[in-house]
Amino acid sequence: MSNVFETVIGLEVHIELLTQTKMYCSCKNTFGETENTVVCPVCAGYPGTLPAVNKRAAELAVRAGLAFNCNINRRFKMSRKNYFYPDLPKGYQISQLYAPICKNGFLEIKGKKYPISDIHLEEDAGKLCGNGVDFNRCGIPLIELVTEPCFHSASEAVDFLKELRLNMIYLGISDCRIEQGSMRCDINVSVHRRGEPLGERCELKNVSGFSNVFGGIMYEEERQKKIISEGNRVFRETRRWDPVKKESALLRSKEDTADYRYFDDPDLPEIILTEEFVNGVLTELPMLPNKKRLYYTALGISGQAAEDIILDPIKDRIFRLCVDVNLCGANVLSGLINGAASEFLNEKPNYLNEKNINGFCLALSKIGRLREKGVVSSTSAKLLFENHILSGSDIDTLLKELKLEQVSDSDYTEELVRRVLTDNGKSAEDYVKGKTNALAFLVGQCMKLSGGRADPVLCRELLLKRIDAGDV
Ligand SMILES: [Zn+2]
Repeated sequence: MSNVFETVIGLEVHIELLTQTKMYCSCKNTFGETENTVVCPVCAGYPGTLPAVNKRAAELAVRAGLAFNCNINRRFKMSRKNYFYPDLPKGYQISQLYAPICKNGFLEIKGKKYPISDIHLEEDAGKLCGNGVDFNRCGIPLIELVTEPCFHSASEAVDFLKELRLNMIYLGISDCRIEQGSMRCDINVSVHRRGEPLGERCELKNVSGFSNVFGGIMYEEERQKKIISEGNRVFRETRRWDPVKKESALLRSKEDTADYRYFDDPDLPEIILTEEFVNGVLTELPMLPNKKRLYYTALGISGQAAEDIILDPIKDRIFRLCVDVNLCGANVLSGLINGAASEFLNEKPNYLNEKNINGFCLALSKIGRLREKGVVSSTSAKLLFENHILSGSDIDTLLKELKLEQVSDSDYTEELVRRVLTDNGKSAEDYVKGKTNALAFLVGQCMKLSGGRADPVLCRELLLKRIDAGDV
């Protein structure tokens, strides 16, 4: 039964831009200020004021366009989108319709290209709040990125948004702070029976957060399937997703583009981007996640390790700096970064800054080299790293003082293994019965008993030798 229906989803993603000032005035682009303190006559929509397009915002929109393989419209216009709502003091939003800044691109995820029909520049509206309206958000620069209706499930749409967010962060276009609403989307969902024409679409307005996007689409799919199954028609409408009740409710019957009475903004001229400007943006494009995935795995680390690094821009920066230091291989580095460094930063999230990041990376690289040479085990590497960062003492001195050097001596390891097997006979039996995890536990016990100094590879080898010989 579940195959009878097909779902089609399109996204309109609003992303706040990281500019110093607002889209058409010199008010600060900031978040969390006291209500109605970051407003001026331009963004408050006083009659007689004149807007001016923020050059940096245009630059960031072009950057997004180039990153997602779009055609850049070298001549673009701003249009007025007219509607009445209390959070919009001008009575219109300055947006783009006829000549958006970027058109026809795509974002590739795991080899599949998701088409982006356009990216346009616009301004945010204010926000309804307890006491009325807060106009601080009026005029905050946004790009709206519109996809083709190319997704067929909630999880596919969410995967796209996650990848889009990651790209935006690496591009420096937006911080995409979902909790602050700097990335929100309108979701168009329609359902039809397989083999029949596409269904009427409903739009879920202003959804933020991946779980809400997922929940909203799932709910909408079920709602529409039910209507169609009962022989009724789905009507085009705009709905609001309630994240608490986990259901959507009718907001208004859907308006058409015509309802917004778009026209070119008479206060703003056509804007012409020079070739120099566009090329300048192109040369500044950073390496993006898809390219990083290829590059990092080519350096010899696993796909999963690369992904763990790329998903966290701080780890990614550390990795790149360490690769530049070039004291040890990428594989050892990725292990230390996803292990020791990551654990350290989880405990001390505010530790890193511009002053100490180079020292942090140099320490990781030096310890990586010790790991590679077999001087320290991974457990000791972690201890060494923590102690060095916290005390500032020299790595070689700490290595001796804390007795962290790996002991690969076979007599020492034999004795260790013998003691661990005597104390953990049950685990050895479990291993013989097929519980493979038991071996990792036994190696862990050897490491613990040796204070992290034993060679885990040798321990494993000797444990197996004894167990296979029935010598437990
Ligand atoms: Zn202003």
